[in-house]
Amino acid sequence: MKKFKLDSLVRENVKRLKPYSSARDEFKDFDRDMVFLDANENPFENGVNRYPDPHQRSLKSVLAEQKGVQTAQILLGNGSDEVLDLIFRAFCEPHKDNVITLPPTYGMYKVLAETNAVENREVLLWEDFQPVVEHILQRSDDHTKLLFLCSPNNPTGNGFDPEKVEELIIKFNGLVIIDEAYIDFSGKEGWLSRLGEFPNLIITQTLSKAYGMAGVRLGICYASEAIITILKKIKPPYNVNQLTQQRALERVAQPNRVQQEVARILRERDNLIRALGQIPFVQKIYPTDANFVLVRVDKADLRYQQLVSHGVVVRNRSSQPLCDNTLRFTIGTEQENKKLIEVLRTI
Ligand SMILES: *Cc1c(COP(=O)(O)O)cnc(C)c1O
Repeated sequence: MKKFKLDSLVRENVKRLKPYSSARDEFKDFDRDMVFLDANENPFENGVNRYPDPHQRSLKSVLAEQKGVQTAQILLGNGSDEVLDLIFRAFCEPHKDNVITLPPTYGMYKVLAETNAVENREVLLWEDFQPVVEHILQRSDDHTKLLFLCSPNNPTGNGFDPEKVEELIIKFNGLVIIDEAYIDFSGKEGWLSRLGEFPNLIITQTLSKAYGMAGVRLGICYASEAIITILKKIKPPYNVNQLTQQRALERVAQPNRVQQEVARILRERDNLIRALGQIPFVQKIYPTDANFVLVRVDKADLRYQQLVSHGVVVRNRSSQPLCDNTLRFTIGTEQENKKLIEVLRTI
C-alpha cells in the first residue's frame, strides 16, 4: 500500500490556521443550570434566543452510537453541500490543485470545484455506470487531492462495485470521498464499517433523502479523527442551527420510523418499475439502489414536456454524458406514482 501523509494534502493556510473560538466553545456543560452572560444574546427565552452548541454534542453522540464510530470521527454541516465545500477549502489550493469526478454524477461536485477555482478532471463511468479504475489513476497527478465516488450514484441509481472502490481507495494518492446520500435505500452495505482501515477515506451522508429532512439541511461527514480535526478548523462555529439540531435529534432517535418509510418507498419502487415495463416508449429501465429510477425513453424532451403539461415534474438527465434520452423519476407516494403511471399511459 502507498504511504499516506495527510499533512501533505492540507493547504498551507489551513495548516497555520487557528480556528475562531466562539463564546460557547470552551463551555461543555450545556445542560447545567448556569447564568450565561458571555455571548451578548437576548436573555428572554423563546426557544432560539441562545447560540446553538457549535459541536452538536447530543446529535453526534446518537449518530456515533448508531453508526459505530467515535464522535471525533464526525463533522456535521448545513447539508452535505456544506460538508463537501469544506473538504475543497481545506485541501485544494485554488488555481493549482485538481479533483477527479466521474460523470454522469451529482452536479454539485463540479459546481464546488468551479466555485473554489479548482480544476475538475472528469473521467467518464463505463457504459455499465461503473468507475474505470485505470482511467482514474491515469488522470491523477501530484496535484490531485480528491476523488469523488457517488455510490449509489445520482442520476444513474447504481452502487459501485466494492472491489473497484477498494482498489481506488488503496491506489489513489489523495482523499477518496464516498457520497452515500442514498445508502439507506441500498440493500448493499456502505463503507462506514471499514472507515478505520483507510486513513484517506471520507464518507458523506445526509438527512435529506431517506430521513425525510431535506428542509432542515443536515449533512454528515465521517472520517478519521485527523481529517475531522482539519475540517473543524475551517467550519463556521454555528453552521448547524438550533432548530436543525433539535429536529434531527428527534428523527435519528426514531430509526424504526425511518426504516418503515424506506421500506414503503422500496415497495413503491418495485411497483413503479413493473408499471414502467409496460410503457411502449420506455426503452430501458436502469437498475437502481436508490429512491429514484433512471429510464431511457424514445424522446426525452418531448416526454418531459408532456409530463409537465399533465402536472408531473420529473428530471430530464439527457444532457449528461451516457444519458441520452433519459428521465429520472423520484419515487413518491403511492398516489403520486399512480398519477405518474397514469400520465405515462395516456401520453
Ligand atoms: C441529494 C444528494 C445529496 C444531498 O445533499 P444535501 O446538501 O445534504 O441535501 C448529496 N449527494 C448526492 C449525490 C445527492 O443526490
